[in-house]
Amino acid sequence: MGGLGNKVDQINRSATVGIADKVTRLRQKGHQILDFSAGRAFEPTPAYVSRAAADALAAGVTHQTMARGTLEFRQACARKLSRDNGLEADWESEFIATMGVKQALTVALLGVVSDGDEVLIEDPCFVSYQALIAIAGGRARQLPLRPENNFRWTSRQLEDAVTDRTRAILFNSPQNPTGTVHSRADLEAIAGVAREHDLVVITDEVYERVTWDGRSHVCMATLPGMRERTVTCMGLTKTFSMGGWRIGFIFAPADIIDGLERFQEHLITCAASFTQAGGAKALAEPPRDEVTDLWREWEARCELMTRGLNDIPGLKCVKPEGGFYAWVDIHATGLGSKEFADRLLNDHQVAVVPGPAFGPSGEGYIRINCVRTRPELEEGLVRIRRLATSKR
Ligand code: PMP
Repeated sequence: MGGLGNKVDQINRSATVGIADKVTRLRQKGHQILDFSAGRAFEPTPAYVSRAAADALAAGVTHQTMARGTLEFRQACARKLSRDNGLEADWESEFIATMGVKQALTVALLGVVSDGDEVLIEDPCFVSYQALIAIAGGRARQLPLRPENNFRWTSRQLEDAVTDRTRAILFNSPQNPTGTVHSRADLEAIAGVAREHDLVVITDEVYERVTWDGRSHVCMATLPGMRERTVTCMGLTKTFSMGGWRIGFIFAPADIIDGLERFQEHLITCAASFTQAGGAKALAEPPRDEVTDLWREWEARCELMTRGLNDIPGLKCVKPEGGFYAWVDIHATGLGSKEFADRLLNDHQVAVVPGPAFGPSGEGYIRINCVRTRPELEEGLVRIRRLATSKR
C-alpha cells in the first residue's frame, strides 16, 4: 500500500461510481449505452431555481457564508418543514446547510458516533452508508429487509440486533433501492426501539417529495419522543434534479447542530453560497406546477417501466412506493446479479446496478432507474427482454 494508511482498506469502492465510469469508457469507444444505473432523472433543474442561483452569482453572492448556512437558506428550510412536514423548527438553531445529503450524513455520523459504536443500517441500502460509518469510526451492522415483510424491518429484528455498543439507527425512506415508503406505523416500530435503548436515529429523506399512489412521507422527527433524538437529512438532489449542485440540509436539535458544526467548519467551511441561494428559492415556496407535473410524469414512468419489466419472463418487481427505482427480482432467470448486469452491459449496451452493490440481500436483484426518457425506457425493455429470453 506504500504511502497509504490503514483507513483505506476499510472503504469499499462505490459500485455505482464504478459502473458510471465503465459506461463513460464504453461511450468513448462509440457504444450507444442506455444508462439506467445512476440515480438521477433525465430532466435538468427547473429554470426558476437555476435563475435564482445565477442571479445570486451576478449580484456578487460569491463569498463564504456562515458555517451553518445563510439566513435566507435556513429560513427557507424552516418554512419547508412547516409547510410539507408539519414540523415547526427554529431556523437559527436547528439547521445546517450541507453539500448534499452525503455530506449531511458525513457530519451527522462524525458527530454522533464514537469509536467502535455500532450503527444499524438496512440491507440493501444506499452504497455509501457503510463507508461513511467506517470514516466516522463506527461499525455498520446491516439488517436484511425481507421481501416477505415488504422490505421493512420488524421491531423484533431490531430488538435482536441491539447490543450495548449500538449507538444509532440510520435508515432511508423512501428507500433506495427497494422503493419502500415508511408509514407512521412502520416508523413507530423503529422509534420504539430507539426510545427503549436510547439510540439516535439518523434519517435519509432525500426522496421525501416523490411518493406514489397518494402516499405521503412522514418524518421520524414528528413521532412522540423522537424529535430530540433524530437527525433529519434532506436535500434537493433528487426531487429538484439538483445532483450537481451539492445542496441539502440537516434538521436536528440545537445541541446536536452545535456539535455537527465543528466538523462542518473544518471540512468545508460552508455549503456554496450561490447553491444555497438556488436551494432557498426551491424550498421557500411550494413547488411550482412545472415541478409537480414532473413528479407526476416520473410516477407514470415508474409505472410504465415496472409493468414492462413484469411482462418479461423471469423478472418480477413491484412499482416503487416512492423514489424512482425498480428493484427487480431476477432469480428465475437463473443468472446471478453480476452476470445479469455484465451481460446486459456488454452484450446489450444497457447499464443497471447489480443488487449486491447495496448489501448481501441484494443478490438475485438488479436496480433500474426509471426516470430516463420514455423512448429510452421502451428501448431498454426491448434489450432487457432480449437478455432474459436468450438461450444460455
Ligand atoms: N442517499 C440516498 C438514499 C441516495 O440514493 C443518494 C443518491 N444516490 C444520496 C443519499 C446522495 O445524495 P446527495 O447527492 O445529495 O449527496
